[in-house]
Amino acid sequence: DKRLAGCQPDVRPALHCQPRFAFLPAMPKQPAAVVQVAVPRPLRRLFDYAADAPLPAGARVRVPFGRASAIGVVVGGQGTSEHRLKPLQSVLDDEPLLPPDLLALGKWLARYYHHPIGDVFATMLPAKARRGAPAKAKEDPFWLPQEGGDEALARAPRQRQALERLRQAGGARASELRGLGIERRHLLALEAKGLVCRAATTAPPAPRNFTHPPETHHPTPAQAEAVQTITASLGRAAVHLLDGVTGSGKTEVYMRVIAEVLRAGGQALVLVPEIALTPQTVARFEARFGDVATLHSAATDAARFDVWLKCRSGVQRVLIGTRSAVFAPLPRLGVIVVDEEHDGSFKQTEGLRYSARDVAVKRGQMLGIPVVLGSATPAMESLENARAGRYTRLRLRERAGGARLPAFRLLDIRGERLDRGFSPPLHAAIARHLAAGNQVLVFINRRGYAPVLLCGVCGWQARCDHCDANMAFHRPERQLRCHQCGARRPTPARCPSCESEQMALVGTGTQRAEEALRERHPNIPLYRVDRDTTRSVPRLRDSLDAVRDGAPAILVGTQMLAKGHHLPSVTLVAVLDADGGFLAPDFRAPERTAQLIVQVAGRAGRAERPGEVLVQTFDPQNANLQALVHTGYHGFVASERAARAAAGMPPFGALALVRAQSKAPEPGRRLLAEAAETLAWDDVETLGPAPASVSRRADLHRWQLLVLAPRRRQLHRALARLEQAEPQLPGVSWAIDVDPLETL
Ligand code: ADP
Ligand code: ZN
Ligand code: ZN
Repeated sequence: DKRLAGCQPDVRPALHCQPRFAFLPAMPKQPAAVVQVAVPRPLRRLFDYAADAPLPAGARVRVPFGRASAIGVVVGGQGTSEHRLKPLQSVLDDEPLLPPDLLALGKWLARYYHHPIGDVFATMLPAKARRGAPAKAKEDPFWLPQEGGDEALARAPRQRQALERLRQAGGARASELRGLGIERRHLLALEAKGLVCRAATTAPPAPRNFTHPPETHHPTPAQAEAVQTITASLGRAAVHLLDGVTGSGKTEVYMRVIAEVLRAGGQALVLVPEIALTPQTVARFEARFGDVATLHSAATDAARFDVWLKCRSGVQRVLIGTRSAVFAPLPRLGVIVVDEEHDGSFKQTEGLRYSARDVAVKRGQMLGIPVVLGSATPAMESLENARAGRYTRLRLRERAGGARLPAFRLLDIRGERLDRGFSPPLHAAIARHLAAGNQVLVFINRRGYAPVLLCGVCGWQARCDHCDANMAFHRPERQLRCHQCGARRPTPARCPSCESEQMALVGTGTQRAEEALRERHPNIPLYRVDRDTTRSVPRLRDSLDAVRDGAPAILVGTQMLAKGHHLPSVTLVAVLDADGGFLAPDFRAPERTAQLIVQVAGRAGRAERPGEVLVQTFDPQNANLQALVHTGYHGFVASERAARAAAGMPPFGALALVRAQSKAPEPGRRLLAEAAETLAWDDVETLGPAPASVSRRADLHRWQLLVLAPRRRQLHRALARLEQAEPQLPGVSWAIDVDPLETL
């Protein structure tokens, strides 16, 4: 690949005709080997270095770069170079750290996302690996039970139980103990009595039966069919779209497929939007498979690297992770599951702007293994792929275990007097459900107390000094906070402009909704779930555990509430404001809003208490809202699909954004105007440059250029032209975003 390999043509002198006569003048000294290195710099090429011997692709090396040194990844090599090459400083890995499949994936990422290859590999590697830490996994000893000797345990029932469990499992690695319900101190006691022994091991365990405890549910016919179809595709490339309503037992399907993969000695990767928000899911996998590792941003760098290395050695069989786990090395990978595949958090929004879902699909295709995309609200792209026959669509139309989905109702709030966002009928409904001993969930996708503080006399508004954005008022700290850049300042008591004291808070955030509800229901426990309250995972888990005991309670929160939890005692879901989402100008906003509403609604309901969903709106005739409420998510998609097709927007056209930012407003715009000329050709259309929706953030002016092509191939050709031209202006940084999630 020419573009990737900034490479020289093969100028290797034919060795067989090298002079053999010592008296001839010596040839210029050639290095023993030339290696091509991907260096983590924003440069779209590889660099050649001299090495004493050829190096395997995938090894890390330290190389001189400019005035400093850098740690890069060997991507290839060639015999000689016509240039005088700098020698490598050191080789960090004897064995390649990145296996061939991930090297190939990295090259594909650089091409597909038009991103500098060195930065691609830096993104794929865990932070510690990037900084050069040695690739040595922590030891994970294997505990082996011995036969006989149980007499010694007559008075130690706990130890005896631990020994029995260990025997049942046929021994276990230290990391598996928790999942098996064995405590280490009991094993240490047993070791002292000679009843178990320890073996150091880094070898992958032998395949065995991993269903622990055994599956408890009998699968529904739809589940059985999905499992059957997916397992029939093990060992070859296939993408399955598991389109199943919330609570239909998708997780159960994943687990059965994974059990099959493990039985055959394989590994499984499960991608989830946010681990912190789905402790239940991880716990279920742990209960079923014992040894489950997680990879997510809340873990320390050391822990992350350790898990990564265990995956790479094949010791770790099941990995659950967020976005970047899609790059985990898994030599015996048998299946990839992407749960809640529609979720926006699978898309990285800076640097290498990849979609973990799309990368998973590509990785599965390259490895020849199935990928399962699961969701109750599949992305329109995924549905279109299924329609075109590229994905198999598997449907679970009903909830498992007989639970029913709640029914939707619109609340027309035109002309109603709102109390902090609540209409009187909504307040009444909440009181009714609580009085009946049930739980209520209030969804409002805005944190803080109020999004706007303004002066009632002169109209002054609290704006961020660094961003083109309002500052939100946060009640507990009596602070103004910018949700774009995080800036904070005290709330002025008087208008800074006219000194008036008539300051007004406009709009409702989660804190204000909480206030309104606490006032009316002082004796009902209330849990607020948003980024301000749930910085710590245990706290969120405690809140949810408290709610699951079923006593009357109120949950108020942002989209964090829409993810993964089952809250069966909730019988009323209130959506405070649907209009903002449906009326937003971004072309994906209606889809995202519909998904959010359906997901939030899906938290509620069970067999005997199906519940209801009330959606407040000022725009009850809105076509999207009508479609969603009366025909459900798929009905909504059918009408939205037509709109997308008419506009040539994804999934009916290929889209990219070129983004630029600069301290001064003008240079960024100018660079994009130049880029537009390079891009617009054939059928490729550009729109812009236009200011980004937040036109200034953290003191940087932000511009964007929309690039739209009827087909992917044309889009890639255009973007490749742009890479080649590599426009530059002092003080401007720019980036390509292929398949952007947000265009405004
Ligand atoms: P989803 O992932 O689609 O939201 P889950 O797999 O979490 O659904 O299942 C929802 C609930 O139904 C869980 O409590 C699960 O234990 C239960 N469940 C799943 N499959 C069955 C089944 N075949 N029979 C009875 N209950 C089931
Ligand atoms: Zn004023
Ligand atoms: Zn700001």
